[in-house]
Amino acid sequence: MIPDHIHCLSRPRPSATNPGALEPALSLSKSLDSQAWVFPAARFSRGQHLMLALLFILLAPAVQAQKPSAHFNGQAAYDLTAQLLKVAPKRFNGSAGHLKAEEFIKQHFAAEAAKGNLETDTFTASTPAGFQTMHNYIVKYPGKKDGIIVLVSHYETNYPLRDIEFYGANDGAATSALLIEIGNVLRTHPPEGYSVWLVFDDGEEAVKAWGPSDSLYGTRHLAAKWANDGTLGKIKALLVADMIADKDLNIDYVDNSTPWLLDLLKVAAKNTGHSAYTFKYHESEEDDHLPFAQRGVPVLDVIDAHYGPWTEAAPDGYHHTAQDTLDKISAKSLQISGDLFLEMIRLVNQRP
Ligand code: ZN
Repeated sequence: MIPDHIHCLSRPRPSATNPGALEPALSLSKSLDSQAWVFPAARFSRGQHLMLALLFILLAPAVQAQKPSAHFNGQAAYDLTAQLLKVAPKRFNGSAGHLKAEEFIKQHFAAEAAKGNLETDTFTASTPAGFQTMHNYIVKYPGKKDGIIVLVSHYETNYPLRDIEFYGANDGAATSALLIEIGNVLRTHPPEGYSVWLVFDDGEEAVKAWGPSDSLYGTRHLAAKWANDGTLGKIKALLVADMIADKDLNIDYVDNSTPWLLDLLKVAAKNTGHSAYTFKYHESEEDDHLPFAQRGVPVLDVIDAHYGPWTEAAPDGYHHTAQDTLDKISAKSLQISGDLFLEMIRLVNQRP
């Protein structure tokens, strides 16, 4: 066991019996801070000082290691992406793969379902291919403060691409895996601040040709529903994850996001050491943030829309092509994206 005063070297802590009070060790701590070693010198020899210092150096990492880590695991997110692609490579509306993807998501949140914290939001979308039944899944991690931070990823693949080998490794699969892995972190480290909700939304992609009435089916439905039931007013920030597992990751400055959230993403990138992977390109995006932005919710679209080499034959790179496969994404990029999302949650909580 480590002597108490070693814990107190840098910071006094409240006692367990009286959380507001500081332990008597505070006075020792103060003397250590301000008059280096004057007080302990009365009790310890020089040799004992060295022994204590050595003990501290040896044991500090062990004490740290005992704490369960609140860190995002990029490799785990990558492995989850591979598993999802294996069971549900094509996930277009109405397909067997679409159902399997939904099962995959639900399986990973059995613990939350048992607590009543997994909500299935079923709706019928009127599309150019007729009426389609769609499902959003909402996983809730209750926090201690009033307010909600929402993270969003779509999970389906494009209906118009159903006849090619389009798997959406980066577009839909990896960000669903990213949210599942964030769920793994939140399960062991429940939010201390605002509640965090994970949304796996359906029907982000166009069914025929992208336009206001043929896209964003799931989030348009959810934004309208949450406007009616009062949820929208509780949302402190809504962060969309899209195409951010690209091996060559650089997260765009999406200027139709909320300015203060763009500022916060810059801070998050700095704090996590990932600034080199952000804001190379500036653009506006039509993505799952829009239905919420239009209703006044603070939103951030976290996307890297520059995916693969852009050629005359493939003017959008790997985007919406059969090239969007597992080999184009990386655990490292998922690590960066996961780090940024967890840091964003922390930073949003720090705002007054
Ligand atoms: Zn897409």
